[in-house]
Amino acid sequence: MTEAPHTLLSLAHVTFRYRAVPALNDVSLDLTRGEILGILGPNGSGKSTMLRIMSGVLHPQSGTVDWLGSPLSRVPRTVLARQMAVVPQGGTIEFPFSVMEVVLMGRAPHLGGFAFEGDQDVQVAEAAMRRTGTLDLAHRCIHELSGGERQRVILARALAQVPQALLLDEPGAFLDIRHAVELYDLLRDLQAEGMTIATVLHDLNLAALYCDRVALLKAGRLVRLGPPAEVISYATVRDVYETEVYVDTNDITGAVNVLPLSRVYRERLKR
Ligand code: ADP
Ligand code: MG
Repeated sequence: MTEAPHTLLSLAHVTFRYRAVPALNDVSLDLTRGEILGILGPNGSGKSTMLRIMSGVLHPQSGTVDWLGSPLSRVPRTVLARQMAVVPQGGTIEFPFSVMEVVLMGRAPHLGGFAFEGDQDVQVAEAAMRRTGTLDLAHRCIHELSGGERQRVILARALAQVPQALLLDEPGAFLDIRHAVELYDLLRDLQAEGMTIATVLHDLNLAALYCDRVALLKAGRLVRLGPPAEVISYATVRDVYETEVYVDTNDITGAVNVLPLSRVYRERLKR
């Protein structure tokens, strides 16, 4: 038996431009099997672009992207969809599908040709909905949900794919504090079952609490990569986000806490 490769996804010297707009500059990074990798950085630093490169939606102008040791661009989409699932930023569904229909779409890569979903697909979809707390919404129209509910449905669709890796872009963006921690707790549970996860997130505190490693981007460059306790420091956060913050260690979790400061206090620190 051959051992499963240690690296699932590997970016090497990736540079990407949208026409004239540079978005990523010489980024190299491996996604290691079984980890939760957080992708952090200020607005416009290239986080979503990096995730789109990792999922093969965008192709870099230079550098390489390998999935399980082969060029990602050569992996057929249907094969990839059985191995990797993506939860895009603020994902919208164009047509008025029911929640159940949306989640069942996650089964598509597992169906042959024009086959319809069977009982087993429905069971997998229901299990995904149960885990994301969306089973009660099964018969609602996707357009009639709140942003947070829709986000959890899109996560359920991704889980219905039963992938090896899950790529998420700000999955907590529309979630209240309880639903946010429940989402990240679920990611931890999935990790314990063998899933590899890369997630863009804005919240440095959640990153510190849940990620094994974080990649910190600034203006398209990967400026830091490592455990959150090393990367999310006062000096680094202040330099990368260009604002004064309050950084402390949480008494309960031992994780770093980053809090904003209003202008009065920011200016006091400047003196
Ligand atoms: P983030 O997710 O960190 O906020 P993005 O990856 O979305 O950043 O964007 C990185 C840079 O690329 C920004 O300057 C942004 O304006 C630009 N950009 C993003 N998407 C597009 C696009 N579709 N066309 C042109 N420029 C884009
Ligand atoms: Mg983004």
